[in-house]
Amino acid sequence: MQTLPPGSTIGILGGGQLGRMLSVAAAQLGYRCHIYASDNNSIAAEVSAQFTCAQDEDIASLTRFAESCDVITFEFENVPVAPLQEIAALAPLHPPIAALDIAQNRIAEKNFARDHGGTTAPFAEVTDRPSLDKAIAEIGTPAILKTIRMGYDGKGQSRIRPGDDLDRHWDAVAQQPCVAEGFVTFDHEFSVILVRGQDGEIRFWNTPHNIHEDGILALSVAPAPAAILEQQDDARALAAKMAEAMDYVGVLTCEFFATKNGPVFNEMAPRVHNSGHWTIEGAITSQFENHIRAICGLPLGDTGLAAKKVEMHNLIGAQADDWQSLLSDGTNHLHLYGKGESRPGRKMGHVTKLHF
Ligand code: AMP
Repeated sequence: MQTLPPGSTIGILGGGQLGRMLSVAAAQLGYRCHIYASDNNSIAAEVSAQFTCAQDEDIASLTRFAESCDVITFEFENVPVAPLQEIAALAPLHPPIAALDIAQNRIAEKNFARDHGGTTAPFAEVTDRPSLDKAIAEIGTPAILKTIRMGYDGKGQSRIRPGDDLDRHWDAVAQQPCVAEGFVTFDHEFSVILVRGQDGEIRFWNTPHNIHEDGILALSVAPAPAAILEQQDDARALAAKMAEAMDYVGVLTCEFFATKNGPVFNEMAPRVHNSGHWTIEGAITSQFENHIRAICGLPLGDTGLAAKKVEMHNLIGAQADDWQSLLSDGTNHLHLYGKGESRPGRKMGHVTKLHF
């Protein structure tokens, strides 16, 4: 275990709200963060000691960045892998590149879960228009067509109903390589959020019940209802196996559907996750702090609940404009990410409420 003392510099690839909250947690432990992002208006850089604004493929800038860091992590799973491999010798990188490689490809991700004993939706690869016909003939409808790469928050997805014109769906995903997934009939959605230390210790947070609206997370509640808790052990066992197989260090999130036949793995995020934002006030140690502890080789903090029940509401688009009325309830923990303009579907902040 390589312990980095407070005062060391943590490099974070990506400049959004996850980087911002990681940087705040790191600062609390006495670390300095250096953000690397391609957008000059980085809301993570605003709260960090250093900022490099450069493209992900800019090896010269990446090299200077890596030389200034004692450890590097990422808050965004679509960081290109090849440039990272080039700078790998310059500073330790956690979580491992292998986790990025798997999480960037929906097919690799599902196969990885299956290889470790998990159940996924039935799926078929779609590389061109004729293979979409073949895939739908194989898995049936309803189905969801998802781009293999770069999809998030329901983007790059098209829902296929029985009898639909497939040309329209192929256009909707911009004719890119896709996975066609059978539609899973589920009772609930939940996520397993774990942290794995450099010594292999794994801790889980309380399992949140996640409610999505229009493909975007709207609400996370912990503890989850009994119907989810009954499936928690199987889901946790799968997530732990996957983390061990990757020799993972840091926070890993796996999203599941709770079905009549047990948990169905949907996807993994090799990073802190929106469904874990409630842990800032709702757990003894937050996902952000434990990620920093793990990558810096510190002992992991207690992941237990800090209240009887915790709810986290996302503030999407104009919902964040209600900040004054949200603050008028003194028990609300309001987080605003400092994004200037509230656009529809944009995650602007969240509110956490603890029930004792
Ligand atoms: P994803 O980007 O894969 O997380 O999908 C966003 C949301 O769409 C999920 O949280 C689910 O609510 C829904 N969804 C995705 N895939 C499926 C599926 N195969 N069956 C049913 N619902 C799905």
